[in-house]
Amino acid sequence: MPGFQSGGSAADWFEETLHKGFRARYRVEEILHESESNHQHLVLFRNEIFGHVLALNGVIQTTERDEFVYHEMLAHTPILAHGAARDVLIVGGGDGGMMEEVLKHKSVERVTLVEIDAGVIEFSKQHLKSICGDAFDDPRADIVIADGMAYVAETDRRHDVMIIDSTDPIGPGEVLFTEKFYKACKRCLAPGGVLVTQNGVPFMQGDELRHTIRALRPLFADVGCYTATVPTYMGGCMAFGWACDDLNVRATPLDALRERFAAAALETDYYTPEVHVGAFALPRYIERLIA
Ligand code: SAM
Repeated sequence: MPGFQSGGSAADWFEETLHKGFRARYRVEEILHESESNHQHLVLFRNEIFGHVLALNGVIQTTERDEFVYHEMLAHTPILAHGAARDVLIVGGGDGGMMEEVLKHKSVERVTLVEIDAGVIEFSKQHLKSICGDAFDDPRADIVIADGMAYVAETDRRHDVMIIDSTDPIGPGEVLFTEKFYKACKRCLAPGGVLVTQNGVPFMQGDELRHTIRALRPLFADVGCYTATVPTYMGGCMAFGWACDDLNVRATPLDALRERFAAAALETDYYTPEVHVGAFALPRYIERLIA
């Protein structure tokens, strides 16, 4: 069973296998579900601190207790900076947490979720209601079971905001970190649109962020990243890539963000307009990584 270790005492432990030289362990109070889909090994267990924890192929994806940080920052930051997003694309995101956050924006008319693994969606509808809510039943939700690479290469649609809510660049998620993928994303981004990407923890996975930024730079006028601290993703803050052809979008003044945030009547636990602006101020080691 990927990730599970006997603790040598009464409790079993789940050991995340993401990093070569570092392992985090979570005590397993109860295994709630375990299965093998066509694409990956899926496990859901309960931990005293993090609540329900979802892991795919031995790597933690999301937890009930801290999902809000990741989902709020990847959803609200581009949508409120854009200011008029009506059509949003999520690539990956089968747990539904990102879609739930995006759908809180009443101005969004359609959210397309392109997930390669139908098993993750079916599972999340049943076991992760606390994360996805009723997002999958929302009439604005359009669920596509496909490889995100194939979707962005072929679709005729143009999206105002594109959110790459992917696994790490291992297995089916690897293609979502390639130049070919980012080029195809640019093709289906509407004018003034924003692309944001999950880019791991720079302290632990610096090459991942560096590679993404290098690949995006020739394609967009404004490329950078912003950060948030998600307790589950160990090793410091996590980075989100940012790409847009309009420099004004990232530079949206705080007052405008405050107005949009108030108008959207969002209830958040991490995102605030002030955190939004501050998230783009990078520690020196991350500035160097992407220089
Ligand atoms: N928050 C998470 C994290 O950073 O670990 C990501 C969560 S979400 C569960 C990631 C989803 O991306 C998975 O359900 C996986 O099946 C999906 N995925 C991986 N590769 C994909 C691809 N090529 N196209 C579409 N979805 C993909």
